[in-house]
Amino acid sequence: MIYADNAATTKMSRKAFEAMLPCMEETWGNASSLYVFGQKAKEALEVARSKVAACFGASPGGIYFTSGGSEADNQAIISAATLGAKKGKKHIISTTFEHHAVLHTLKKLENDGFEVELLDVHENGIVSPEQVAKAIRDDTALVTIMYANNEIGSVQPVAEIGAVCRERKVLFHTDAVQAAGHLPIDVQKQNIDMLSLSGHKFHGPKGVGVLYAKPGIPLVNLIEGGAQERGKRGGTENVPAIVGMAAALEEACANMEKNTAKVSKLRDKLIDGLRKIPRSILNGDEIRRLPGNVSFCFEGIEGESLLLLLDDKGICASSGSACTSGSLDPSHVLLAIGRPHEVAHGSLRLSLSEENTEAEIDEILRAVPEVVEYLRGISPLWKDKLVGKREFLLPE
Ligand SMILES: *Cc1c(COP(=O)(O)O)cnc(C)c1O
Repeated sequence: MIYADNAATTKMSRKAFEAMLPCMEETWGNASSLYVFGQKAKEALEVARSKVAACFGASPGGIYFTSGGSEADNQAIISAATLGAKKGKKHIISTTFEHHAVLHTLKKLENDGFEVELLDVHENGIVSPEQVAKAIRDDTALVTIMYANNEIGSVQPVAEIGAVCRERKVLFHTDAVQAAGHLPIDVQKQNIDMLSLSGHKFHGPKGVGVLYAKPGIPLVNLIEGGAQERGKRGGTENVPAIVGMAAALEEACANMEKNTAKVSKLRDKLIDGLRKIPRSILNGDEIRRLPGNVSFCFEGIEGESLLLLLDDKGICASSGSACTSGSLDPSHVLLAIGRPHEVAHGSLRLSLSEENTEAEIDEILRAVPEVVEYLRGISPLWKDKLVGKREFLLPE
């Protein structure tokens, strides 16, 4: 099997796994208990907090452990909105191509009377700091813009956007789930007030994540309960998962340069090869791009059929399209960067990690053109295009 869907989830690293074991076999006490056995778990939790903080130039006091990226996004946005509303500020700025954990939370706030303004991301999938500066108003409570996009891999000018927000005294949150452990992040240098990340996107366990909030920002609880996480998230801490995540993040940050060099080389080889397919187009920015992201649209095919046929060949990939989740609409991200509906339906995302090999890239480069050609061969739509009954949308 060739696994090329690392933007969906990653395999847990050996280091993460090994860090988790003693938390289950030995120090499995409740971190809130007063006896030494429980305090051992508490210690492991706080060591993990410091490790995570160190990866982002943050103070451990700003780190809150959550159940994942989605919860962190929800809590960041709802907290900033609640704070803003108390000061009469109910305008929120975001973009059209955020993850649904952000977009659906914003939708909920809109129903509660907030005004949500979604900025255009242009064809390369990048928002400019000038756009943000222009959109900020006196009643803006929050700017929330993702660090790197999960479908098309484009990386935003986060430090510059952060600087604009800082200057205008508006809170800035970034969903850094795709960036954490893959790109260098420094919450202070990049003027980030709040940040979300998720363990399973950098070879840590699933079901655990982090919300970073600059000390002093009052958080709103999504989960009421005990005094865990300094009273901001009730529930007995998932110490094994938290410790595993911290180990994975530490490992990813320590090896970042090496991994980026390897993965981006594989990525570029894959992009160069797939580009040779006629009537294909790369999605996202060519330069400002996640090291492991390859995203294409192929005219005249359905992404779902492509995925199923690749699966037959042992290749795990993803389509940007939401069809698999029961909707026939193409991906909101591909529509956001201006791909026509028909083209957006023919999307393929291959997301690599340092565990992929050059031989696997060669195999993908044999499989994809073959499958695309086969699907076009059986497509009535494609036949119409060939005989001039329909127009081609992408150049040869
Ligand atoms: C995966 C992902 C999330 C959700 O994280 P979970 O830990 O799975 O809840 C949020 N945002 C982005 C950009 C993601 O890629």
